[in-house]
Amino acid sequence: MRVLLVIGAGPGQGAVPSLIAALRRREWAVLPILSSPAEASCADLWSGLCAAPLGSLDAPPAADVALLAPCAVPLPPALAGLVSRLRVAGVPVVSVPTAPSPALPGPRPAGAAGWEVVPAALPLLGGGVAPLWLAGPEAVGEAVAAAVTRPDLAGKGVLVTAGPTVEDIDPVRFLSNRSSGLMGLALALSAWRRGAAVTLVHGPLQVAVPALPGLAAVPVRSAAQMHRAVMECVDAQAAAILCAAVADFAPRQVAEQKIKKTTAAGGDEPILPLRRTPDILAALGALPRRPYLVGFAAETEHVQAHALDKLRRKGCDLLCANDVTEPGSGFAVTTNRITILSRDGSITPLPLLSKSAAADRILDRVAAALAS
Ligand code: C5P
Repeated sequence: MRVLLVIGAGPGQGAVPSLIAALRRREWAVLPILSSPAEASCADLWSGLCAAPLGSLDAPPAADVALLAPCAVPLPPALAGLVSRLRVAGVPVVSVPTAPSPALPGPRPAGAAGWEVVPAALPLLGGGVAPLWLAGPEAVGEAVAAAVTRPDLAGKGVLVTAGPTVEDIDPVRFLSNRSSGLMGLALALSAWRRGAAVTLVHGPLQVAVPALPGLAAVPVRSAAQMHRAVMECVDAQAAAILCAAVADFAPRQVAEQKIKKTTAAGGDEPILPLRRTPDILAALGALPRRPYLVGFAAETEHVQAHALDKLRRKGCDLLCANDVTEPGSGFAVTTNRITILSRDGSITPLPLLSKSAAADRILDRVAAALAS
């Protein structure tokens, strides 16, 4: 994707190099132009950071989306002219204002018409901003991606569970698993880019959740807490995608003090009594009025047979299965090879994809099902 980056003058400019790095990490071509010719002394710097020549405001290079960062509010006439020419040409415009604009506190405008975000890292002229709209470079990247995404989940509630759960044994020990939360976060962001109102209920993650309006992150620790958080918000959801690696067992009791090596029950073969945790996916599957339900199955053998059994047992509409022993698939890697099984019997093997691309394919199915 080609991003026209219109670099503005003023205090927010200091954050632009980290923004450029975030955009380039997404493998987008970043085509810089300067909003003010007076800034041209830094031409080599911007051109070097973007690895692209500096274009001109009068004849900007062709792009799929434009990003104004930072930009003064209201826009100076030269920029306002550029923005209206871009909009006429059908190029969505995302702007990062240096001061809050009256448009900011409202709900996110639907569609690709362009909308505004305020990176929290930028020193703001003019004081405070609505906290909902505070965002960092990753969030701006998501906003740019959203501007070119068809909003086929606009206004729909989508719940995603992500990451591991942590079951405390005593004040210093716990039972958990290797889930990083990458796949769940990719699903939440994919739904968000399509305009969904996303609730992300997550255990402790190894990745940061970007602060985005319309993405509510609900951090939890244990399976019981995740179960409670999910049940509290399920009524508002059109779809629920349960991607969390929920612990199947938790200690029957959390010891108040650290359990001593010498006094642990069982002596040399210590015993830790466990109890089953609530199965959140099965609980949603059993609801009389339930959202469109997507489950995940991390398997190490007989992947399709186990996944099909899980789909039926837990009452899912779709089940995404992956063999976590396969290289590039499963925990703590950025790629995944998923097979989507559906309640109607169809089986769709996806190729090895980035977790973000795999999430897009899964959300394609969810959006299509909700539209029918
Ligand atoms: O049974 P298994 O843990 O393999 O099922 C995996 C699927 O069930 C995932 O979608 C996971 O998020 C969900 N799950 C759950 N609550 C549990 C266990 C699993 O929601 N206690």
